[in-house]
Amino acid sequence: MSEPKGPILYIEDNYHNRRLVRKILGSRGYSVLEAEDGQTGLAMLRERRPALLLLDIGLPDIDGLEVVARIRADEELAGTPVVAVTASAMRGDRERFLEQGCDDYLSKPLQAMELLELVERYYGPAASSMKESQQ
Ligand code: MN
Repeated sequence: MSEPKGPILYIEDNYHNRRLVRKILGSRGYSVLEAEDGQTGLAMLRERRPALLLLDIGLPDIDGLEVVARIRADEELAGTPVVAVTASAMRGDRERFLEQGCDDYLSKPLQAMELLELVERYYGPAASSMKESQQ
């Protein structure tokens, strides 16, 4: 048996997006932590060591890409998978996010199936998902 994984952290300043992600991932048994800005998110990364980070790019304090840069520059955090979550859908944006250290990219508005597939790819199934599906 592998060790239980840490939670998923979502850094996002928009309440509605946080609520949506909490609802979608929570319904599958994932444990989701939330931070409303980059500095709080970075502090939470250090304290809670989430197994996956979902990261809004437009944040009120530091830009999401700055958050990724700090994660990649930090020996202890560098291995955290980071998925950019953003409405920015200009040509080349995906490549730009990947070049700047994100592992993947999810566009807003969020689609439940897309989010779940991506989380499963980077995180695996939630520890409690089998138990819950039997209820
Ligand atoms: Mn935002």
